[in-house]
Amino acid sequence: MALLIDIKQPGWMEDEELQAILLKAYSQGDIRCAADPGNLDDIEMIAVSSYEIGEALRYPKLRLVQKIGAGVNGILEDDSLPASIQVARLKSNTPAHEMAEFSLACVLQEQRHLRHYRDNQSRWYWQALAPRQAHETTVAILGLGMIGNITAQRFVDNRFKVIGWSRTKKMLPGVECFHGEDQLAEVLKTADYIVSMLPSTPETVNLFNSETFPLLNPDATLINCGRGDLIDEADLIEALDKGLLAAAILDVMQTEPLTVNSPMWRHPKIVLTPHVSGWHLGDAVNDIAENLRRLESGEALLHLVNRELGY
Ligand code: NDP
Repeated sequence: MALLIDIKQPGWMEDEELQAILLKAYSQGDIRCAADPGNLDDIEMIAVSSYEIGEALRYPKLRLVQKIGAGVNGILEDDSLPASIQVARLKSNTPAHEMAEFSLACVLQEQRHLRHYRDNQSRWYWQALAPRQAHETTVAILGLGMIGNITAQRFVDNRFKVIGWSRTKKMLPGVECFHGEDQLAEVLKTADYIVSMLPSTPETVNLFNSETFPLLNPDATLINCGRGDLIDEADLIEALDKGLLAAAILDVMQTEPLTVNSPMWRHPKIVLTPHVSGWHLGDAVNDIAENLRRLESGEALLHLVNRELGY
C-alpha cells in the first residue's frame, strides 16, 4: 500500500519536502511523489492540497483522499468520487492561530484607519480621525469550529465584544453564541466586523448575496478567510457601491488566482490577499503519516470529513 503526495500548490510546499517530513514520522511507509508514482495499483491514499476533478479515478485501489489543509469543498464537488473513498482533512492549531492573527490585524488596521491614512499620505493630506475602541466594537465570527474558536478567543483577549454563529448551538467563554439560519440576521445587523471562518458547503455557498447584504450594519467590514464561494462577488460590489457595508477584506475568492479582469482588483473598498491567512501546517502534518499507518492497520482514521454535511 502506498501514499502518493501530489500537492499542486506552486510556491507553497514541494511534494519532496512533504515526503521527507512524513518519512521522518513513519519511516516504514511507502510514500511517493507525483513525479515518480510507480505502479498506480499500489496507491491507496493520496495527499493533495489542490484537487483535480476525476483525480481519484487514476488510482484503481484508492481508499483515502487526504487534504493537506482544512477546506475540502474542491474534493467533495467531484461527482465521480466513489462513495467508498473516504476524505480526511488536517486540524491544526498553527494555521488557526495564523488566521486569528490575520483577522485581528485586519480589524486593528480598520480601527486605527490605517488604510485611510495611507490614501491621505499619497495626497499629502493631514487629517486626524478618532480611533474606534475595542470594547465598543462588536466582532462576529461566522463558523465556530477549530479556526473560529481560536479566532473568537483572540478577539475576546483583545477586549472586543464577540458574537459567534455556527450550525449547531455552541457555548464559548466570553462569546455570545448564535446558531442556525434563523439567527443569522441578528448576527449580521449587530456586527461592526464580520469574520467568516465557514467552510464551503451547499448551505453556505453564496451566503452573502443581494438578500443578506442589506441586513448588514452599513459601517460593517466583511473579512472572509473561509472560502471564496461564500460571497456572491457581483452582489458584493453592488452592495459596496450602494453603501450597504463599508469594506471587504478578502483572503479567498471564487476563482483563485483572481482573474485580471475582476473589478475587485481596483475596487476602493476591497482589500485582497492571495489566500495566505493560514499558511504553516505545524505538527498536524504528521497526521498524514498517521493516517497512512492507520489505513494499513485498519484503525479508525483521523479527521474524517462528513461527506453529507460537506465539512
Ligand atoms: P471546522 O469544520 O472545524 O468548523 C466549521 C464551522 O462552520 C463549524 O462551527 C460549523 O458549525 C460551521 N458551519 C458549517 N456549516 C454551517 C452552516 N450551514 N451554518 C452555520 N455554521 C456552519 O472547520 P475549521 O474551523 O477547521 O475551518 C473552517 C474553514 O476555514 C475551512 O473549511 C476552510 O474553508 C477555511 N480555511 C481557510 C484557510 C485560509 O488560508 N484562508 C486555511 C484553512 C482553512 P458546527 O460547529 O455547528 O458544526
